[in-house]
Amino acid sequence: MFEKPNVVISKCIEHGHCRYDGSMITSEFVAELKDHVNFLPLCPEMAIGLPSPRESLRLVLANDEIKLLSYINGTDMTAAMEEYSRRISKAISEFQPDGFLLKSRSPSCGTKDVKVYADIGKAPPLNRKSPGIFGRDMLVLFSDYLIEDEGRLLNFTIREHFYTVIFTLADFRRVRGTNGIKNLIDFHSRNKYLFMAYSQAGLKKLGQIVAGHGKVPPGEVFSEYEKKLREVMMRKPSCGQYINVMLHLFGYFKKDISEKEKAYFLDLLELYRNRRIPQSSIMSVLSAWGARFDRQYLNEQTVFNAFPRELATVADSGKAR
Ligand code: SF4
Repeated sequence: MFEKPNVVISKCIEHGHCRYDGSMITSEFVAELKDHVNFLPLCPEMAIGLPSPRESLRLVLANDEIKLLSYINGTDMTAAMEEYSRRISKAISEFQPDGFLLKSRSPSCGTKDVKVYADIGKAPPLNRKSPGIFGRDMLVLFSDYLIEDEGRLLNFTIREHFYTVIFTLADFRRVRGTNGIKNLIDFHSRNKYLFMAYSQAGLKKLGQIVAGHGKVPPGEVFSEYEKKLREVMMRKPSCGQYINVMLHLFGYFKKDISEKEKAYFLDLLELYRNRRIPQSSIMSVLSAWGARFDRQYLNEQTVFNAFPRELATVADSGKAR
């Protein structure tokens, strides 16, 4: 049973008809996530008093500063949006987010790649991209949180990374709520091979924090562990990092499996290295051997099952790798 992650989401993605033209964006994977995630939907533009439908906004470069202006009238919404970011950040912190999912390319919610213009009206875009104003503020105010845009999550591996992070952090939040060091030791142990995939050095440091638990109060241990955990999980592991973990896990079975099984596994590894099969194909083989040889420690490893199986669709835009 997975703990439900808390995710801040741009409201126009599957949660409300709040776009400038009164529409909502449909997203298959966000619709699927609804049963597994606690969403906090926000529409910053409506929150600063704009209606839907409305005149669209755009980013305009003026005196070396990026402003959020209405497309036709040129009304400056920058200060109102910045004030909203500050105001809502308290509510977001209280929500205890495990991640953010913001609308791509929006002058308000975008986290990067938003067009910047020289002026309002028919002026063409400049050769420059920026985050939106609210997106930029979230990147600053929640700098150690995973903030993705929905466009990037169309890529299967980026989506898998996002799911892995939010479900791991949600589980950590649950463990932290118990304030029990024994539970933290168990959490660390179950995540050993997942953290190894993210960073060998990070895994070692997290282990040291857990091992030093007798010297400082539990609250401090959890805070230090969480800080490091967020840092470790911020970057998506490479294929090579996962292969390293797969070989470690393979080592547990070398003496038990036949030569044919070994050769089959190494062939699969090559296919994975060449991006011909997903990571889950290899993990399924390792997990099946774990069950066959009754290796309970391995069977409990989250690297085999970091998020609900129902979400593990390999549908991929092929973009944003
Ligand atoms: S992108 Fe952000 S501001 Fe724009 S409609 Fe969606 S939620 Fe509202």
